Amino acid sequence: MHQITLIPGDGIGPSIVDAAVSVIEATGVKIQWDRQLAGMAAVEKHADPLPEETIESIRRNRICFKGPLTTPVGGGYRSVNVTLRQTFNLYANVRPAISFEGTSTPFQNVNLVTVRENTEGLYAGIEHFIKVDAEKLGAESIAIVTKKGSERIIEYAFQYARKTQRKKVTLVHKANILKCTSGLFLEVGREIAKGYPEIEFEDKIVDACSMQLVMKPDVFDVVVTTNLFGDILSDLAAGLIGGLGLTAGANIGTDAALFEAVHGSAPDIADLGIANPTAMILAGAMMLEHIGELDAARKIERAVRKVIRDGRIVTPDLNKNSSYGTQHMAEAIIRELIE
Ligand code: NAD
Repeated sequence: MHQITLIPGDGIGPSIVDAAVSVIEATGVKIQWDRQLAGMAAVEKHADPLPEETIESIRRNRICFKGPLTTPVGGGYRSVNVTLRQTFNLYANVRPAISFEGTSTPFQNVNLVTVRENTEGLYAGIEHFIKVDAEKLGAESIAIVTKKGSERIIEYAFQYARKTQRKKVTLVHKANILKCTSGLFLEVGREIAKGYPEIEFEDKIVDACSMQLVMKPDVFDVVVTTNLFGDILSDLAAGLIGGLGLTAGANIGTDAALFEAVHGSAPDIADLGIANPTAMILAGAMMLEHIGELDAARKIERAVRKVIRDGRIVTPDLNKNSSYGTQHMAEAIIRELIE
């Protein structure tokens, strides 16, 4: 029996999390869900978007399945996602972008995974205004790249490639300009690559990489990069396969792992019952893979892909003539799964 912390989240969160839980349970994997609050739901009950009880539960279970959270505006609340990342040292953000047959996108041959460093870089939060001279105000932001942090994420990318039989790791940087930060990241990458002779290694400058991603995405396999470049490139990759509604992400850390959809709480469609549950369901498949339930993970992915390929019982974002909603799509996936 696996113990997993479950956070339903805000907006469309509870409906897509319910859909994903019913799909996960249909695989027969035994899970004891430890339901906890975060986000607006937690603010309403505990006046805290991330109550200590929720943190304790993740600390105990070390695995968390989380719906999207609405970030409260104002009120001095800290960002839940950033706090979770820091508390559990979630250093690797892993996002597969694999084309779905049956979706109308410019490419049908995307099959790549971005591995983004999640704790350093320009997101270290060292930013302030400065006085340039008597009249001019300026601002500066400091990027932190450490050898240890770079080793940890690049090793993770190579191990991931090895485990998933992927053939190539592309390290993305801007070392021609950012000679220290990007330069160090690249140097560490070149060193680590020597330990993985069976995996091809290449490096690309981020601007050239962006152009190639939108012209020839099939040349990419595993992409590893620093925080800001990873943030942008992983959304770009999500766009290549049909958008955020289809993309799942894992946040892997030394103390816990957290699985979620990449999109937010979609307040504009929160009460309509039409949110696409795919990203959340695929986050569930990534979680099952992480806890060693490989068979169940593959079954879910196959069933999701079949339902999207058929294009009939899908949410309106995938087929504008569809009158089916979140629950119908989840039920169609479960029927495929148990057939
Ligand atoms: P969003 O991703 O919630 O929505 C952007 C657009 O995509 C909307 O039109 C929405 O209807 C659509 N959309 C998103 N998910 C969908 C789905 N599953 N099916 C169909 N359509 C979908 O982004 P936003 O509106 O900028 O953010 C809303 C809230 O979510 C904010 O408070 C933001 O801070 C939060 N957020 C949370 C997370 C997270 O918890 N990981 C991530 C991003 C945004």
